[in-house]
Amino acid sequence: MLKPLKYMCYHSFLYIFILISIFLNVGNTAQVNEIEKRFIDAGLVDISTIDNTIQVDLVNSDPKKNYFRENYYNSLDKAYLRKEVAVKLSKAQRTLKTKHPKYSLLILDAARPRSVSKKMYEKMKGTKFEKYVANPKKGSMHNYGIAVDITIVDGNSNEIDMGFSPFRKSNLELYWQFAKLKMGFKLNKEQAENRKLLSDTMQKAGFLPLSYEWWHFNGMPKDQARRKYKIIE
Ligand SMILES: [Zn+2]
Repeated sequence: MLKPLKYMCYHSFLYIFILISIFLNVGNTAQVNEIEKRFIDAGLVDISTIDNTIQVDLVNSDPKKNYFRENYYNSLDKAYLRKEVAVKLSKAQRTLKTKHPKYSLLILDAARPRSVSKKMYEKMKGTKFEKYVANPKKGSMHNYGIAVDITIVDGNSNEIDMGFSPFRKSNLELYWQFAKLKMGFKLNKEQAENRKLLSDTMQKAGFLPLSYEWWHFNGMPKDQARRKYKIIE
């Protein structure tokens, strides 16, 4: 009599365990990053599925790495882009590696929902940093999934020196950088060459640079992006 009871208990536990596992899995599915879901629903691709050699460190997922001091992307660690832009970026990576095999592109920001741009704009409005955040009314090119903020890292994954950069800096470093800019500090030779390397690499792959943000590149002209794609809200 004892044996079948033991047997029954074992099975009951097994069933309960399976039911709990199913329940927890359902919970996990529901917890898929909500920002990532919006990108996937909009038809964007994760850059690693196109080129897994391109490094990613989304600064808007970590309050210590962006100047807004916020985690706007719910800790998302994958960069999403329109597929044709991701393909262009892979071309840029290959160009870079032909010249410098140990170097890699490092994506700091890619697609960004307009709801996040609105929060950024509200925080920067009226400050001297306002020009760095596009007015969300028209929609930033990041909102169309065609823009990247990007830099280059060396073989040890350290960023090469580009001079002024607002990313991954402490408040003190940011303050010091802006103070130097105000004092009219110019780029040194190495910084100027590094910026030129990034710009040449990206332009060769078909990206368009911005004159006042060395890190920002659009994957196509703005009017083309607006005709072709919808804003990711
Ligand atoms: Zn940008």
